Amino acid sequence: MRLKLKPPFVIILKIIGGLCVFCFCLFLFYSYQIHGLLELGYSKEASKNILFGFKKAAVLAIGKNKTLNAAFESSDYQEKNFDSYSKITYQKQEHLIQNINRLLKKGYSNQNISMILSHGTDKEVMDFAKRDKIRYLEEFYSFPYAKLSYYDRYVQYSDQTGEDEENTVIFVNLDMDKEAYTDSTLVSHFSTTMLVNKYRYLDSSFLPEKLEKISDQYTNGEEQMAAKVAVDAFIKMYRAAKREGLGLVINSSYRSYQQQQEICDTYASLYGNSYVEKYVAKPGFSEHQTGLSFDIGSTSSDIFAQSKEYEWMMDNAYRYGFILRYPKKDEDITLFRNEPWHYRYVGEKIASYIHEHQITFEEYYVQFLD
Ligand SMILES: [Zn+2]
Repeated sequence: MRLKLKPPFVIILKIIGGLCVFCFCLFLFYSYQIHGLLELGYSKEASKNILFGFKKAAVLAIGKNKTLNAAFESSDYQEKNFDSYSKITYQKQEHLIQNINRLLKKGYSNQNISMILSHGTDKEVMDFAKRDKIRYLEEFYSFPYAKLSYYDRYVQYSDQTGEDEENTVIFVNLDMDKEAYTDSTLVSHFSTTMLVNKYRYLDSSFLPEKLEKISDQYTNGEEQMAAKVAVDAFIKMYRAAKREGLGLVINSSYRSYQQQQEICDTYASLYGNSYVEKYVAKPGFSEHQTGLSFDIGSTSSDIFAQSKEYEWMMDNAYRYGFILRYPKKDEDITLFRNEPWHYRYVGEKIASYIHEHQITFEEYYVQFLD
């Protein structure tokens, strides 16, 4: 005997079946729609918000866009800023969209906002977005190494000194708007690219990596030490000079904090404090403590600057990774009087760049290492 369902049950079953088919179709449609966005590189979350915000056509017309993706992932998304999001260069920052909204509200253009975002951290951009619109954005921030948080210092320094924008950014980044020796930053890690000057100092415990004794044949006979990497480079240079009949000598190399202190004391007793202030680096502020600097002499003349070795060094030292650290024309940047004998090891790549562009290590540091 066949089981016969009563009519209401049949209707309910048909409705349920119909609903299932409907849901399945809806699911297929959704999957198909979202697939296009996912394939473009939008995240699951962003794609979902794009679909439900009815922005798929607009997003597809733009194509892959990381800032737009971040906007649709963010609870700070504002419909009126859609166009700007798509035109502002993405930065990996936590409050990216919130900051963009704020900066747009302050009246910055999309291009300006891209510039602002690329010059600071998330926190710095957040602080910047809270202040009134600044006047000299492009003047300072067309330089990639300009720092967002230094804006007021740039304006003040350029007002006070009359320096152009490029020099202003370089000098302020080097802290030259602060007082030498007193308002200085501690440098604690050894590297061949470390910068030590009157604004960046080493403490008394700092030691160069792989400090080693230099063989007597390269020195003036006094016991000398330096970082292995610099000694190896010097020996190569020494041999190259020798092949051309020239004699290089190391007169001074690594000096400890205490040794520099003794030098200061000696000069102070001989010539007074103002002499020391002007010509001798205070302990911690001497590059010799890095183990990467050499005072070089020649076997042909007591006055190095008049020797043929000096000329040869000026033309060739960079090939071995050394730079003349305190050139005459750059005393206002290095804040050290010209020392024709003082060479610093920075590696061949950096030395070549500095030689070719005739800049100081300070300028190189600000532009590429800071
Ligand atoms: Zn020196």
